[in-house]
Amino acid sequence: MDLDALKSILGPGGYIDDPADMAPHLTEWRDRWQGITPLIARPQSTTEVSEVLSYCHSKGIGVVPQGGHTGLAGGAMPDSSGSQIVLSLGRMNTVRAVDANANTMTAEAGCILTDVHAAADQAGRLFPLSLASEGTAQIGGLLSTNAGGNTVLRYGNARDLVLGLEVVLPDGQIWNGLRSLRKDNTGFDLKHLFMGAEGTLGVITAATLKLFPKTVQSATALLGIPSPAAAIDLLSLARTAAGDTLTSLEIMPRIGMEFVIRHMPGCRDPLVYPHDWYALIDLSSAATDPDLKDLLESIFVRAERDQIAADGVVAQSEAQRAGLWRLREALSEAQRFEGGSIKHDISVPISSIPEFLDRAGAAVEALIPGIRPVPFGHIGDGNIHFNLSQPEGADKQAFLDRWEEINRVVHDIVADMDGSISAEHGVGQLKVQEIERYKSPTEVELMRRIKQAIDPQGIMNPGKVLRRNP
Ligand SMILES: Cc1cc2nc3c(=O)[nH]c(=O)nc-3n(C[C@H](O)[C@H](O)[C@H](O)COP(=O)(O)OP(=O)(O)OC[C@H]3O[C@@H](n4cnc5c(N)ncnc54)[C@H](O)[C@@H]3O)c2cc1C
Repeated sequence: MDLDALKSILGPGGYIDDPADMAPHLTEWRDRWQGITPLIARPQSTTEVSEVLSYCHSKGIGVVPQGGHTGLAGGAMPDSSGSQIVLSLGRMNTVRAVDANANTMTAEAGCILTDVHAAADQAGRLFPLSLASEGTAQIGGLLSTNAGGNTVLRYGNARDLVLGLEVVLPDGQIWNGLRSLRKDNTGFDLKHLFMGAEGTLGVITAATLKLFPKTVQSATALLGIPSPAAAIDLLSLARTAAGDTLTSLEIMPRIGMEFVIRHMPGCRDPLVYPHDWYALIDLSSAATDPDLKDLLESIFVRAERDQIAADGVVAQSEAQRAGLWRLREALSEAQRFEGGSIKHDISVPISSIPEFLDRAGAAVEALIPGIRPVPFGHIGDGNIHFNLSQPEGADKQAFLDRWEEINRVVHDIVADMDGSISAEHGVGQLKVQEIERYKSPTEVELMRRIKQAIDPQGIMNPGKVLRRNP
């Protein structure tokens, strides 16, 4: 590979080729993936991205786009051949425009989500996408994985928050689709091809995002509930009572609460007695009326009356609110202290969640007696992180060696219930084989044809989402 041509496009400061400096780009948060590359390109403009892709296209060089590298599915990692370059968007981090009246913002792909939040806030607006990786994840990565997070129930996934995109195609052509129109019925909506494509069809360089009125009040409660079925009744009750102000509804089991209390500093059991399950409800509003704390308390009272909830606490201060959210958000980290865990990031129709938990729980227990399911997540979106901790005292590696076998059993149940085997985080390299197993042949073939039409040389993120040589 002639790196000098690429270096001259990018200029000094526009690339990294020192192994020590490249290392953070070539390892991932969970250390699961490692890659090799001769060069990390760090373009600072759409034109530079275009020139890099045009050159790589002419030479057949694979290009792996990289944002904040928080994807956890190996999507932003080159393979081990050393024949692919990484294209890191971090230097393209300008908010190009904010139009508060039109409720839009145009931000470059390398903008970190918290910086986008801050820019919206400065304009008196809200950009509602919110997730635990928001201090690192970038707009380009978030859109390329169609990220979800804590507010999907109310505002939708990342793709629902986009009006227009600017994309550099594999041959270097720039598609300026940065429209801010809310109505545009002129044929195929091309932007949706690139969102969720995980960098396999082109490089997102900028996006026009939807803004919303700023939140002026919010209220949070944690309720002790008897079962996931009760959580679904609670969802229905809260939706009816709170309407659009219902922003999040999360669940976690008692074992998850115990892990957090045991391992995470400052976390305490918020209720006097233990409960089998917990539901975290968040309301938020851009209006001062009605008072959301009162509304949430009335939901809680009704939930107790209908035996949906046995006990609960409504946060009385911002600090208490943050404390309740921390119990839920610290769970992934707390689980690490309990040894190995095998993860599934699935969704099923909301009303099927209790049946899924029963079936999948029984199936994994049959395979590994003593396995400890810790299913938690965004019940309002039907998205459950079906995470399984190893049996107490078991050998960690022997447990993790059964990852694929367990995945297969759980994913077969998900498929049987018309669910998705990847509700967040995408496919990356992690679930390429699974896609072929669980999507219909027609759907996989359609995806291949689209890939072939847009990237006939196959240079964009080779081997991610779809197999390279099927
Ligand atoms: C602690 C933690 C919590 C998380 N919580 C959630 C959650 O609640 N919901 C959720 O959905 N996800 C979650 N994630 C996953 C992750 O944050 C999201 O997938 C995020 O969207 C990835 O953004 P990124 O910038 O880090 O992308 P990266 O990891 O760098 O890349 C992800 C994929 O997008 C491609 N890509 C990156 N930038 C571009 C671009 N500009 N153009 C084209 N392709 C590109 C990459 O090639 C790769 O395939 C979490 C991750 C962590 C570590």
